Amino acid sequence: MHIMVTNDDGIHAPGILALAEALRELGTVTVVAPDRERSAAGHSLTLHSPLRVFELRAGFFAVDGTPTDCVNMGIHSLLPSRPDLVVSGINHGPNLGDDVTYSGTVAAAMEANLMGIPAIAVSLGTFERHGHFDAAAQVAVRVARQVLANGLPADTFLNVNIPDCPAEEMQPPLITRQGTRSFIGKIVDKTDPRGRKYYWIGSEEPDFNDEPGTDFHALNRRHISITPLHLDLTNYESMKILSGWTV
Ligand code: MN
Repeated sequence: MHIMVTNDDGIHAPGILALAEALRELGTVTVVAPDRERSAAGHSLTLHSPLRVFELRAGFFAVDGTPTDCVNMGIHSLLPSRPDLVVSGINHGPNLGDDVTYSGTVAAAMEANLMGIPAIAVSLGTFERHGHFDAAAQVAVRVARQVLANGLPADTFLNVNIPDCPAEEMQPPLITRQGTRSFIGKIVDKTDPRGRKYYWIGSEEPDFNDEPGTDFHALNRRHISITPLHLDLTNYESMKILSGWTV
């Protein structure tokens, strides 16, 4: 098996190192990841500037682009053959609910899914400096083993969120739906040392509606949350309503 690993926290982040090491149990691992943190890059693709690649050591490629760039570079240029699986993470912080659309971690898995390759995004539920990345990596291996053995349904990739605790304190995996954010939109404005105004988005940690069945509800109770996602954003119910419009 050949597994490609990427992330949005950058190639030097602790989460990607733990993930790449753990996945070696399942096959050959190639890392293609951004050369610096690109969190909240979403599904952005670099089209108007060249990309540079640095092979830091065998099988570790740093790209000066986004997570989506990395998936493209890995699959179309750097890897010797198509990987059997793409795993993105382990993100430093959860990727829950509406926030998945901002996430570079999730977008990398989405990009692999668009290329027809099974893909998993993995995130750890903490912003603390020292998270349980090794315990989370073992969970990622178990999920990856299932995906490699059984495949995934068509047009489906997985968004896995893992509680930040030792393995023995984790609650069993739950298959969840994408939750919703209780949005506390806040922009802080301050003045820089030159007397100019600057603004900072998102000063508070995001909070989510604690609805049963959601990713947030599961993670909040120390369950491993596995959400099957797909890229089709169409609201099928609304199609019926809008079909009555005369435009
Ligand atoms: Mn990140």
